Amino acid sequence: MGIFPITMGSIVYPKTLAERILTQRRSSAEGDEMKHTSKKILVTGGGGFLGSHLCERLLKDGHDVICVDNFFTGTRRNILHLMENPYFEVIRHDVTFPLYVEVNEIYNLACPASPIHYQYNPVKTIKTSVHGAINMLGLAKRIRARIFQASTSEIYGDPSVHPQPEGYWGHVNPIGLRSCYDEGKRCAETLFFDYYRQHRLQIKVGRIFNTYGPKMHPNDGRVVSNFIVQALQNQPITIYGDGSQTRSFCYVDDLIEGIVRFMASPDDFTGPVNLGNPTEFTILELARRILDLTGSRSEIVFRALPSDDPQQRQPDIRLARERLGWEPRVPLAEGLAKTIAYFEALLRGWNKG
Ligand code: NAD
Ligand code: UDP
Repeated sequence: MGIFPITMGSIVYPKTLAERILTQRRSSAEGDEMKHTSKKILVTGGGGFLGSHLCERLLKDGHDVICVDNFFTGTRRNILHLMENPYFEVIRHDVTFPLYVEVNEIYNLACPASPIHYQYNPVKTIKTSVHGAINMLGLAKRIRARIFQASTSEIYGDPSVHPQPEGYWGHVNPIGLRSCYDEGKRCAETLFFDYYRQHRLQIKVGRIFNTYGPKMHPNDGRVVSNFIVQALQNQPITIYGDGSQTRSFCYVDDLIEGIVRFMASPDDFTGPVNLGNPTEFTILELARRILDLTGSRSEIVFRALPSDDPQQRQPDIRLARERLGWEPRVPLAEGLAKTIAYFEALLRGWNKG
């Protein structure tokens, strides 16, 4: 990517990506007026589930996007359809190492997000959260870029306040199996606010609650993808515990809209802000809905509950409503139908191949 041939008389000169972009920009600006102020934007973790949707959205909004990923849990398949776009660039890079690029905005999403993936190499997970945050904040400071952090509802641990407002400090086991992720993300939040106080960086800290949709990894063990893949294959639906624990599921398009609005919000709105869908379900209800929607013959089976599994979770999104004018719009049935269609197509591909 990056070099394209152009002809001058009979000689062929390579045309750089910059030249190509400038030419296209000029011709589009000469035609109808450009609707957007185009920015150069870095998305770390851009090959993952949320990152690939975010890259797609930012390109649609007319920006230049650099996707950085080490492809630990993400895949090039998620972004293959963007590769031909001259405004899109991919760098294989691990955020635990410094990175030097010139951009206006940084979305820091790089980090494995599903329990089985982040527990696979817990030390690496902490390094990704903490060293990754330090590297991206250092970059933002050097180039004076605005920076978004993909934080998480795991900040609240197994919460004793319900629903969870941003002012709640959480209930986290600092030495358990989930701590590499929970405490790593908490430390990243601390770093963001210290850079804000110490260096006046423009930070945006978003606490993302369980999000689902197309491009989730089929084997990453998260509940929505697990249940759908099991249901589509008529295999047992594995409920951990008795299924009375709750989660609140946000469809990916709603979440991406919230993130983009947050990044565009005034400088003084740093967050942390909860981004998620406040409609709460038990895991057993979720299983039943997926069985209904897929018409599956799967039976429900009960397995041991993993340690420190939060018993309840629901975002209080009053702050996001007030400051961003945002709330989720896609109901669970509609979002699940789209996600099921995605996994059906994926499994058809598997069966053929
Ligand atoms: P994902 O695993 O699909 O995406 C994470 C991406 O980061 C992958 O492409 C992975 O390869 C990449 N990555 C991991 N370690 C890296 C490293 N050291 N250097 C460079 N790239 C690296 O997960 P996701 O669901 O898309 O989550 C994205 C972000 O959002 C994560 O930071 C996660 O903590 C946060 N989040 C997600 C949810 C959710 O429900 N999806 C909820 C809360 C927070
Ligand atoms: N879960 C389950 N069966 C599965 C996968 C997950 O019952 O096959 C449960 C899990 O124990 C948790 C909830 O579903 O209570 C959400 O799990 P997920 O890993 O998706 O997200 P998180 O626990 O990080 O919110």
